Amino acid sequence: AARAQSAAAAGYQPESEFYKVEAILRPWRVPYVSSGLLQMGIRGVTVSDVRGFGAQGGSTERHEGSEFAEDTFIDKVKMEIVVSKDQVEAVVDKIIEKARTGEIGDGKIFLIPVSDVIRIRTGERGERAERMAGGLADKLSSAMPIS
Ligand code: ATP
Ligand code: GLN
Repeated sequence: AARAQSAAAAGYQPESEFYKVEAILRPWRVPYVSSGLLQMGIRGVTVSDVRGFGAQGGSTERHEGSEFAEDTFIDKVKMEIVVSKDQVEAVVDKIIEKARTGEIGDGKIFLIPVSDVIRIRTGERGERAERMAGGLADKLSSAMPIS
């Protein structure tokens, strides 16, 4: 199975408290990915319709005898998820689990350090702004035995 290789022991470079997980996905896999993320407690996700080319080149999403054209971009969806450092690998693994078909064109994931998070409504910054009610961190802490 294609699990994400674990991050180097030294951690991500450059070191940051938060990372943006940016995934380029096949549009039709997006509902699987978003429901998988929601189930695990990821509540903040941004998606955009984008177009691009990679190894899949300019061939269309359905390979129905279409001609290869280098200057044709393929429709993709970009999903952006900002999470605390300790949640990055779980998010990456979930995206792979839900997005992967094994065929060329499954997409790519980029990890981007984020300097700060600011909640506009409250002006909160950092961890207070990144945490979401009922989110993954809440789920994990409520599952912990009371000490
Ligand atoms: P509030 O409590 O004020 O509603 P919030 O943190 O829940 O703040 P929203 O205002 O609901 O944030 O979020 C607005 C938009 O910001 C969302 O629709 C989503 O596109 C994006 N967003 C929020 N959090 C994240 C995140 N952690 N990663 C990626 N996108 C996010
Ligand atoms: N890390 C946040 C939390 O655990 C969730 C972030 C997100 O949903 N993108 O509450």
